[in-house]
Amino acid sequence: MALVIRNGPGRTRERHGVVDESDGKTPLTNFASTKTGNLTVRHPLLELRLTPTTGLGLFAKCDVKRGSRLLSEAPLLLIPSSGPTTYQDLQQQLEKASPAEREALYGLQHDPELLSRNQVRQVRNYAVTIRKFAKDKDGLKSFVQTQAKAMAIFETNATKLVNKSGSAVFPLYSRINHSCTPNVYANYNPSLRTHTVHAIRDIEAGEEILTTYIDSSQFFAGRDEDLKKYGFECACAFCQSHEPSLLGPTTSDATKRDLRRAKINVVKRSLYAFEGEHARADGICAPRSPSEALDRAQDLIKLLREEGLLGMDLAQAYRWASKYSLQFGVLEKARDYAQKEAEVELCCLGPETDYMGGSGNAASWLKHVQATAEKDKVKLRACEKRMAKEVKRMEKKAEKKAKKR
Ligand SMILES: [Zn+2]
Repeated sequence: MALVIRNGPGRTRERHGVVDESDGKTPLTNFASTKTGNLTVRHPLLELRLTPTTGLGLFAKCDVKRGSRLLSEAPLLLIPSSGPTTYQDLQQQLEKASPAEREALYGLQHDPELLSRNQVRQVRNYAVTIRKFAKDKDGLKSFVQTQAKAMAIFETNATKLVNKSGSAVFPLYSRINHSCTPNVYANYNPSLRTHTVHAIRDIEAGEEILTTYIDSSQFFAGRDEDLKKYGFECACAFCQSHEPSLLGPTTSDATKRDLRRAKINVVKRSLYAFEGEHARADGICAPRSPSEALDRAQDLIKLLREEGLLGMDLAQAYRWASKYSLQFGVLEKARDYAQKEAEVELCCLGPETDYMGGSGNAASWLKHVQATAEKDKVKLRACEKRMAKEVKRMEKKAEKKAKKR
């Protein structure tokens, strides 16, 4: 299942720009620097506005229906390596970028503190090898500053992509702020080389578009810890209602919700452990049988829906429920869950999911479930025929016996 985690918060903005979204794509047409800190986007559904707490953010201009595609953008810069970004990686990609892409990249905000000492050293080491700077100290200094800024921009705004496709920075996605209960799902499609953002619930005109940078199915402390790596404390409504004291009664709605998030995390990890995809560590107890796994998958669906976590975690939970139902031969249930998975997947990713291959996408899984149901029907019909024959044979035998008497 696809999962996207964004590296950087992208909070304060310093540039103006123009983005055109006339045909569902988002070609970058022009970015121009100004002093006001605003950014103009031409987009049928979205606009950039100042938020009360997090600088600029993207907002819905009109009511947006669940499943609507809000963004479909090519990366400004994509580094295929999935390890830590090196200056050499960045420099190679910067050379390939067009002037408009470079300008748009330099327009994104950056936090210099996110650069490691090693990365700064790499930039300096490279710069001193350039002959033209041998006698030009100012030129050398300016070059190092520009390159370090590019590196910091990448570290601040890059998104880790699915399928080990590397990390990338996008023109508008990098402007979306974080919430622990996001209203959109973001995904990189490696076959199309585009990053899509879909509404996972109805969004009202004027609402801010919010994605999640972390795994939001955690207790407050875990979410807080993960977000510290991005240099900020979460200002989402859920985190704002958190009660810091654990000594008082734990009956507040916020605490109940936090406990539900923690439960989601445990159940999810236990099911991954059951599937053999994650190590059975940290005291996580995997289900002992498919029947127990089915119960947990159904619990997970309920908990995710209650928490409004309607992204691909929910699609994964439906898949598990469908798979375990199929193992039990409860075909109607298996088909029902597979259809629900397909509906959530379409809402989160759109229809272009062939890149997942095999039974990776919901459509393939649904086909498999339907084919199994069909085979089962054929088997059932054959069995019914055999039984009818057997009944007839026994009836005839009984008749013969009766005649003999
Ligand atoms: Zn939060």
